[in-house]
Amino acid sequence: MCNKQQKILNMPEWLDKGKENRTVCVDECIVDQIMILWSNKIETLGCCCGHNKNKPSLIIEERYKNKEIINIAKIIEKHDERQWDIYQWGLKKVKTTQCKYTKE
Ligand SMILES: [Zn+2]
Repeated sequence: MCNKQQKILNMPEWLDKGKENRTVCVDECIVDQIMILWSNKIETLGCCCGHNKNKPSLIIEERYKNKEIINIAKIIEKHDERQWDIYQWGLKKVKTTQCKYTKE
């Protein structure tokens, strides 16, 4: 269950290499699962436990494709009884401009 606490973790050195601040704040009730993902070299970009309102969620690197995503899900399923939502960032087109330009 969620106690709404957070824990500061040291990021593994292979994760987000360019980042200067090497610590990250993680919801305490998913720390074990995040550490297990890291020990499996899974590149996480963010996570949230859902604070008893939503499912725990995880953002993973864009490069992961179907098979790897299934594997990531399996790792979580093995180590947590909760259902997780797994996300990837994606581009979303929000507007296309009109062709109104006329050269003077
Ligand atoms: Zn929590």
